[in-house]
Amino acid sequence: MNIIFLGPPGAGKGTQAQLLTKELGIPQISTGDMLRKAMREGTKTGLEAKRYVESGGLVPDEVVIAIVKERLAEDDCKNGYMLDGFPRTVFQAEELAKFAKIDVAVDLDLPDEVIVERLSGRRVCPNCNATYHVSQLGGSTVCKNCGAELIQRKDDSEETIRNRLKVYTEQTAPLIDYYRRQGILRTVDCQGTVEENFALVKRALEA
Ligand code: AMP
Repeated sequence: MNIIFLGPPGAGKGTQAQLLTKELGIPQISTGDMLRKAMREGTKTGLEAKRYVESGGLVPDEVVIAIVKERLAEDDCKNGYMLDGFPRTVFQAEELAKFAKIDVAVDLDLPDEVIVERLSGRRVCPNCNATYHVSQLGGSTVCKNCGAELIQRKDDSEETIRNRLKVYTEQTAPLIDYYRRQGILRTVDCQGTVEENFALVKRALEA
């Protein structure tokens, strides 16, 4: 099954996709993770993406479309995949449709005020990409999976979060209607715990 996760930053796309990877055995393809890796490695793509990512703006369509197209051609995507953070514009969705057949788009729905609280307390593992909220960590600063020191993403500062929400509303939210019109949209209310949301996501995929 080829799945897209839609939803505002902080709705839990990455967390839900990581859980589903374990359950379904299909890869999670996160354009945000790929761009941050490219930035750490200082590749041409990374250098091009840096200023957009750090300000909370969108990286140019042609840059992200190229990395997704290349990634989907890899062997591990043959039996399905989950796209997390792509597409983010209608143009990206239209281009994606030229080289991929999407079965379902899961929209993770969450009010803005909850998003700011979630993202400003988010800590991530730079090694395995696991994500936590400070309230789950009990003062610890290391990853429970791999022991690496957790970091706060630069774009999880309050000012950048507000910009990312604005960008989401203006450029990404129209995708909800785009996939609804295609009859493949499933909406999940993500205000519950990670486990509750995961149960809802699985139900939405079975529907
Ligand atoms: P994420 O980890 O999905 O929140 O993405 C972090 C940042 O990477 C975003 O704020 C954008 O700057 C950039 N980015 C990720 N995916 C895309 C995309 N599909 N199109 C444009 N920019 C993207």
